[in-house]
Amino acid sequence: MGIFTKDIHTMDDLFVHQLKDVYYAEHRIAKALPKMIAKATSPALRQAFEAHLAETETQIGRLDEAFGKLGIKAESVTCQAIDGIIKEAEEVAGEVDDKAVLDAGLLAAAQAVEHYEIARYGTLVAWAKRLGKHDVLPLFEKSLAEEKATDAKLSDIAGGEVNRKAA
Ligand code: FE
Ligand code: FE
Ligand code: FE
Repeated sequence: MGIFTKDIHTMDDLFVHQLKDVYYAEHRIAKALPKMIAKATSPALRQAFEAHLAETETQIGRLDEAFGKLGIKAESVTCQAIDGIIKEAEEVAGEVDDKAVLDAGLLAAAQAVEHYEIARYGTLVAWAKRLGKHDVLPLFEKSLAEEKATDAKLSDIAGGEVNRKAA
């Protein structure tokens, strides 16, 4: 279902659509991260990916909880944005043979993912507040904080080690 279909009439519909989009994206990320862990060489980068895989599983659980609290069946709508970001990451990873450069590419791809998630959870937080959905709001706030912390951690790893070794 595209975002400009006739299935979305109200702000509530749009909110639910966004929730299903993020649900799709988190599952897609949970599938992609093990491949990124396998390809990463930097121990710090690997460790960050491993930690975030565990967080991603928790975030999927929070989305399940949100669907439950809203009384909606947990389901996905295809997020073409995350499909595109991950496809791009896989293409770059497939073309780089230098391990240090590959780490820099994987790290950059991961940050693109985090920025997408920050945008989406930021919107869910704002809409949940506006629509008075206070029981699900903390769930989105927790995940938003984790995505931001992961992005900051990745920036530290890029600045501290990965980009220096690659350059
Ligand atoms: Fe996430
Ligand atoms: Fe999306
Ligand atoms: Fe994330």
